[in-house]
Amino acid sequence: MKTLLFLFLSSLLFETPTIEKDRDRWKPYYTDAAPTKTADQWYLPFDVANRKKISNIKIISIFGDHRDSYVKGHIHTAIDINPALPKAKLVAVYAMANGIVCSVHLGENQRTVVVKHKLPNGQFMFTSYKHLKEVYVSNGQLVDQNTKLARLFTPQESKKYGGDYHHLHLEIRKKFDDYGCASWLTFNNTQLNDRFYNPQVFMKEHLK
Ligand SMILES: [Zn+2]
Repeated sequence: MKTLLFLFLSSLLFETPTIEKDRDRWKPYYTDAAPTKTADQWYLPFDVANRKKISNIKIISIFGDHRDSYVKGHIHTAIDINPALPKAKLVAVYAMANGIVCSVHLGENQRTVVVKHKLPNGQFMFTSYKHLKEVYVSNGQLVDQNTKLARLFTPQESKKYGGDYHHLHLEIRKKFDDYGCASWLTFNNTQLNDRFYNPQVFMKEHLK
């Protein structure tokens, strides 16, 4: 009996969270609205000399990298980036294309803005911007590449959280049916390729 109780309690405490079990928790932050303009032109999310040139960003961590979020065995759904030559101490983050803000979720060092885009072929997709210190937009707001969504942490501000948050965690998403939790609950390549594009490949194809 004691053993059974122990097993029951440990399953409650140590059960691995999954996207399917966690997604409802993040749904309240989502607004279902369609962008009015098509995302036909794409740009780097920073104010750099040429927003069409990939070499104007510095890549800190690549897509699919193994890492541990609060759950072990998580794989990286984004690229972590900074401007190669930041113009100012406070680095602003811009939308990559026409779209509409559909979610602002999490807080502190994980604050995230998600933009929904309509492609010329009628399909919807999403860009997600994480580790934002200040957010300047809200759900339902129409944006374009000149909309300042947020700004990043400075290295100094990042120290409060262990020093590793002064970069943009940029996801290019095929879906947002997880309402955000797949960003830390993606454990294998099937899940990764089901919801996420490799941002480097996507940018190579779209920043033309
Ligand atoms: Zn990241």
